[in-house]
Amino acid sequence: MSGPSGRRRPSGRRSLTAKQAGLTLAIALLLSFLAGVIELAVDASAMRQEIVSDTRHRLELVHGTAAEAAFQLNPELASQVVDGLFNGGRVARVAIRDDFGRTMATRQREYEPSSSWVAHALFGDILQYHQPLHYQAGVNNPPQSLGELELTLALDRLTRDFTDRSLLIFSLGVAKALAIAALLALVFHWFVTRPLLRVHAAIVNTDPRQPGRWPKPAMGRHGSDELGHLVESVDQLLQAFQRGLDQRDQLHQISTMDGLTGIANRRHFDAFIDREWHRARRHGHPLSVIFLDIDHFKEFNDHYGHVAGDDTLRAVAEALTGVIHRASDLVARYGGEEFVCVLPDTDLAGALRVARRIHEQIRALEIPHAYSTRSGRVTASLGVASGTPAPDGADYEELMAEADRQLYRAKRQGRDRVAAQG
Ligand code: GH3
Ligand code: MG
Ligand code: MG
Repeated sequence: MSGPSGRRRPSGRRSLTAKQAGLTLAIALLLSFLAGVIELAVDASAMRQEIVSDTRHRLELVHGTAAEAAFQLNPELASQVVDGLFNGGRVARVAIRDDFGRTMATRQREYEPSSSWVAHALFGDILQYHQPLHYQAGVNNPPQSLGELELTLALDRLTRDFTDRSLLIFSLGVAKALAIAALLALVFHWFVTRPLLRVHAAIVNTDPRQPGRWPKPAMGRHGSDELGHLVESVDQLLQAFQRGLDQRDQLHQISTMDGLTGIANRRHFDAFIDREWHRARRHGHPLSVIFLDIDHFKEFNDHYGHVAGDDTLRAVAEALTGVIHRASDLVARYGGEEFVCVLPDTDLAGALRVARRIHEQIRALEIPHAYSTRSGRVTASLGVASGTPAPDGADYEELMAEADRQLYRAKRQGRDRVAAQG
């Protein structure tokens, strides 16, 4: 299957969702900061207008009483006016002076002079108010000037109010940015990252030997968008790979299979015995070979024809594969009417048992052969040899030569038999 890397996610990299969330958050924070600055500028202008009009309104409200106090030279009334104005919290100093500049009543509180240039720039020009006090004694008399009402706003208090509003605006901006980023990350993860992870999992779970049978993910509502197209493209690619692998397998089978009998051919046998001989050498195991040659097959062909001869070759091959069914063994057509069996990890006694069974099975086919010197049916002669390769010993040629010698010994001894080494 997919091997040890099977379900592993790409490591050492941030996920697409995390990247997207980070980027969205950065953009949202920048936008909310810019929006906050604009909002704050508008807010500061509104706050200035509100302060000025509120202060003037309050001064107008008390003007009559303050003028009365100045006219009557009544310090108690003047103090009441000053106290009333002082209650606002934003006021730093209030004073009522008479026409000679003498203070009739005043109130003042300590405050930290704000050093912030922003505070001075925003509110520096709207701190001082001087309201002249006029009094008209009768309808026909002109209004006379009696003094002035002086009011100073506290810059530290205005600055604090403005800072509070700024903090609120920026906090709300950050909260909005976070909410937008989280929402977008969730949507992005749901619509893009999750389906991509499904495609990724399907690809890593694909058996490289069978790419055409990959667990193609159903993309549902992504069927006709880019993700659906991606899956279709991957599918087409894997199907093309599969066709290539199938063709390779077919070619490999054709090149290693005997066309007449369907069993392994000589080429496959050569590669197989070479591989098994080296394996036997590595493990110190024995390896056995059985050579088989059909008796008087030339006569069979001459009298029964080539078609019947081919049928017989197929029947013999089938009999051989019927006896040799261990997955590690090999039955091959060596050429003409000669067959060979390779039995890895099998000693001479075991190979002899197998050869006898093959011999029996071919007789049991009971294919008539009136021109055989033997029993009137198709028979075969078999030569068996076995060997355990020495660590630095010779190649398998000697083993093959011995099996061949045994086969011809069987032929010489009258055919239709098994001959074994030793
Ligand atoms: P022996 O008992 O000594 O083996 O005698 P034999 O006649 O079997 O041996 P020989 O080597 O003289 O003849 C082998 C014959 O096998 C020759 C050919 O007619 C036949 N033969 C070889 N390949 C094929 C094949 O693919 N199809 C058919 N029908 N016959 C084949
Ligand atoms: Mg022969
Ligand atoms: Mg023969």
